[in-house]
Amino acid sequence: MHLDTDIETALLGPVLPARACGDCTVCCTVLKVDTPDFAKPADTPCVHLGTHGCTIHPVRPPVCRTWFCAWRRVAALPDEARPDRSGLLVSLNFRRAPQNLFEGVAITVRLLPGSTAIADGMAGRVLDSLCDALVPVWFSDGSSKMLMHPDHEVATHVIAGTPAPPPLQAEVAAWRAHYGLFEPRSQGHDGA
Ligand code: SF4
Ligand code: SF4
Repeated sequence: MHLDTDIETALLGPVLPARACGDCTVCCTVLKVDTPDFAKPADTPCVHLGTHGCTIHPVRPPVCRTWFCAWRRVAALPDEARPDRSGLLVSLNFRRAPQNLFEGVAITVRLLPGSTAIADGMAGRVLDSLCDALVPVWFSDGSSKMLMHPDHEVATHVIAGTPAPPPLQAEVAAWRAHYGLFEPRSQGHDGA
């Protein structure tokens, strides 16, 4: 967890002192936790979650003390995008067996059940504030997910290892340099 936490700070930035969880407890229900000290399934309220928040807050597990969603770290995300108010949970996710280069470490914007974030424009605002750095961004509605950043043409060249047109070459090379280690072993890359 320390490694993951360090990557979160490196890619998303430190926790912002001006942002507090307040009444939000979205992560206590939505996230899957699997640590030596504490585990819970995804999309299930934690057994310690009460009507006024965590009932064991002073002695909560280490992961609950050190994990923060992207809204707590990324100043560019709108203040109104707190997960319980926006219907969007934004977090950095790690996959040990990624299916492509953009799944190993990536930001996921997760649409929460009953969310109006697409219709009211919040989803667009959140994506606009995230899709400009060298960190992959996925959008998930709970049943399927879509790569939002980099764009389709860049992603295709990065994954396939095909020559990119001159205007895209620097961007494609940058993605491969940063995320090439997540390339699945069975996936060939003729430029390697
Ligand atoms: S989802 Fe974010 S804002 Fe909400 S409780 Fe978790 S860390 Fe705090
Ligand atoms: S132990 Fe407390 S802080 Fe941790 S997931 Fe459960 S309710 Fe949330």
